[in-house]
Amino acid sequence: MSTPFVGPSNSAFSSLSELASAVRARRVSAVEVTREYLARASVLDPSLGCFLRLLPAHALAQAEQVDARVAQGENLPLAGVPVAHKDALCTRGIETTCASKILQGFVPPYDATVVERLTQAGAVLFGKLNMDEFAMGSSNENSAYFPCKNPWDLDRVPGGSSGGSAAAVAADLVPLTLGSDTGGSIRQPASFCGVTGLKPTYGRVSRYGLVAFASSLDQVGPFARSAEDAALALSVIGGHDPHDATSLTAGLPEELARLQPLSSLAGLRIGLPREYFQAGLDPQIEAAVHAAAKALVAEGATLVDVTLPHTQHAVAVYYILATAEASSNLARFDGVRYGRRRQPTLAELSGGQSALFEMYCRTRSEGFGAEVKRRILLGTYVLRSGYYDAYYRRAGQVRALLRDDFARAFSVCDVLLTPTSPALPFRFGERSTDPLAMYLSDVYTLSCSLAGLPGVSIPCGFATPADSQRPLPIGLQLIGPALREAQILALAATYQRLTDWHVRRPALAV
Ligand code: GLN
Repeated sequence: MSTPFVGPSNSAFSSLSELASAVRARRVSAVEVTREYLARASVLDPSLGCFLRLLPAHALAQAEQVDARVAQGENLPLAGVPVAHKDALCTRGIETTCASKILQGFVPPYDATVVERLTQAGAVLFGKLNMDEFAMGSSNENSAYFPCKNPWDLDRVPGGSSGGSAAAVAADLVPLTLGSDTGGSIRQPASFCGVTGLKPTYGRVSRYGLVAFASSLDQVGPFARSAEDAALALSVIGGHDPHDATSLTAGLPEELARLQPLSSLAGLRIGLPREYFQAGLDPQIEAAVHAAAKALVAEGATLVDVTLPHTQHAVAVYYILATAEASSNLARFDGVRYGRRRQPTLAELSGGQSALFEMYCRTRSEGFGAEVKRRILLGTYVLRSGYYDAYYRRAGQVRALLRDDFARAFSVCDVLLTPTSPALPFRFGERSTDPLAMYLSDVYTLSCSLAGLPGVSIPCGFATPADSQRPLPIGLQLIGPALREAQILALAATYQRLTDWHVRRPALAV
């Protein structure tokens, strides 16, 4: 057995702000930091599969620019911080595939707003991260390229759809990544990989340049080691963007940039929604989440029993609305405008269809994977005239009831505390043949997305499944009222001051 590899850079700084201030003070250069992280990533990533594209030359060139900007006295909040993005975010001049074959060769002519803001802030782009194709999935098994593995147990999935983003932070290949969350795709993989993952309020972070899955739900957010790091990242990527019509105009609170744990939780009412602690929840997860709640009570918080009575409908509502929006959004991938085109051969044209029609059909048949096709079919079905009222309209009405549930809960508590996932990270193949079992992985994250609320997942313990020797991370979800990211992150930071789950690292062998 080889010895665990511990890169030199990962232990040198305990937070992103420390790293950035060392680069700003020129105690270390962005180029040095980049070299160290690149060395680690290039050694470890081949067995993990986090990166669809690792870009050493690009990162080093960008790091040189950061050092030059620092030398000129620019005050960069993320100076020299290595960052990588889910491949759903457009990057100028860098192939962006959404882990789909249909976007192979698509090189965006512009950066997503979040990508641009991070670059402006001095972050160094390391590359593009693996994901479920078009962000559809909960295990990363739907990547059209190769699987991404859970750094805590390489036989298990990292969660999804932002699996690469979570695993890259867990393995400390980079200390900050971006992902997107439509129904749990930041929080669930954060839980599976033992890192902090924040889904901001819908509209808080620009979607401009994020390849759309379900536009009324999609939201970009950070993965990092700690709540402080996630808050700092949000302070950079968040805020109004005129390029996104659903972007909120509300300003970002200043405390995000230097988030502190709370000195006392006296007066804080934490709601435990009954529906999230019922049959189907792994008992080890339940025990860890209750222990976390107890730790917060010891700091002065009180627990309130709350109910979100429409929770049972969240999976159905989500899979109607998300597939409907996806079927419409994905219509643009037609072989003409983006990426791959499959021209029919002369023999294939003998069926009497026009060459253009054959080109559309073959491009889409060969370019999309099975799960994406399933969603397009489902979405087209629920939008058909005759079914629209029964499914799409009805789902929208139930979505409003889910929102009302949260509004009522927040009249008696300040924050909700739940498990992030009902189950521990599962093995490859365990659920991929049963789409419904996979869809149920998201029961605890979907309602928060449907209501547009901010939610964060933080590590709250480890459990070893009966059939394994390896401890696996457990995630705790905190959900707050709209625009209260700073409050839920401050609570998360308070918990992280009391515990060390979030700083534990998997032993990775080379
Ligand atoms: N796992 C859910 C799905 O497959 C959520 C995905 C997401 O949030 N992008 O749709």
